[in-house]
Amino acid sequence: MIQPDPQTPIVKGWCPGAHRPMRSGDGLVVRVRPFRAALTPAQVRGLCALARRYGNGTLDLTSRANLQIRAVSDADYPDVLAGLADLNLLDHDPAVEAHRNVLMAPDWQPGDVTDRLYGRLMDALPRVLALPDKMGFALDTGAASRFADCSADFRFERDAGGGLLLRADGAAKGWPVRENGAIDALLDMAQWFIDTGGAEAGRMARHLARTPMAGHWQTTQPRPQAAPLAPGATPEGLILGAPFGTLPADRLDAAMDLPGLLEMRVMPGRLFWLLGTDARALDGFISGPDAALLRVHACPGAPLCPQATVATRALAARLANRVSGSLHVSGCAKGCAWPRRANLTLTGRDGHFDLAHDAAPWEEPVATGLSPEDLSDLTGTP
Ligand code: SF4
Repeated sequence: MIQPDPQTPIVKGWCPGAHRPMRSGDGLVVRVRPFRAALTPAQVRGLCALARRYGNGTLDLTSRANLQIRAVSDADYPDVLAGLADLNLLDHDPAVEAHRNVLMAPDWQPGDVTDRLYGRLMDALPRVLALPDKMGFALDTGAASRFADCSADFRFERDAGGGLLLRADGAAKGWPVRENGAIDALLDMAQWFIDTGGAEAGRMARHLARTPMAGHWQTTQPRPQAAPLAPGATPEGLILGAPFGTLPADRLDAAMDLPGLLEMRVMPGRLFWLLGTDARALDGFISGPDAALLRVHACPGAPLCPQATVATRALAARLANRVSGSLHVSGCAKGCAWPRRANLTLTGRDGHFDLAHDAAPWEEPVATGLSPEDLSDLTGTP
């Protein structure tokens, strides 16, 4: 029998969902994709109750603005699914759920163009099920464009004059579309991706790197990117960060009692927005834009993930204030928490760490076989 090579991360071609949980070292990971990136206080309370009763008492907030209940047993999984259905957080069709990877401008308003596009996209999802599960959509059509660094294959954006664009990830320019033709344009682009063998590449940017796309789809520059939203008080409410994406259920539940709270919006970058509250901070969450933990990424690591041979988050927290750029402590070369380059990357391998500068976890290290103690003296700019 062939044993898996522990140094080769297992890259799954799909993302977990509620209908299709992923098995981890501590049980099943049940991913919830909030519709329109929004949750009522009652839905948040319900999720917290499920996490306490069936999970490990926390919710994970992922980099693509989804929530996860972890450590669910096989026996309890049907009850979790039923609980999500009761909270109106479950898709009827597992295949549609698998493709409902949508980043939504967090400042959307009911009835605005972002909201309307979301509705049209939901109607069209059953027609794009031939796309690879990992592909996603961005509705970057809010007051400013903020999703440049976020993973999405089909991007609705605006040009400098406010016109609507559809841009393929990896293309510098997009295709001007009218709102009532926007989804037809997306279906055309999805069909082109399938017809030209894109499924083999898996993602749009990889496919575009080797397959030319028609010129009329690349005519118009999107508007410049604004700075990403950051933790802090805003006129609409309080933006908070979840350290390493962890939301303790008890604390989040308590946040739902904040006076004036209307809704929670989940955002990329492991942030969430509590709309309607004038609170300025909340214990247990990142409430300022300069917090060192905002620059630090770490997956659950050992013992929670079976592919990890090192513990990650305690080391990342210990090093957070001692590294002046971005830091990624990854349990293995897959790099789930930050699948791109960081200024300093520490990657677990055979119980020790590889160290690399300006690299992703799967790139060449400059030092190997380091223990957490070896890394204790790490200071200054990597
Ligand atoms: S990066 Fe972390 S969470 Fe992802 S597979 Fe490796 S050890 Fe597991």
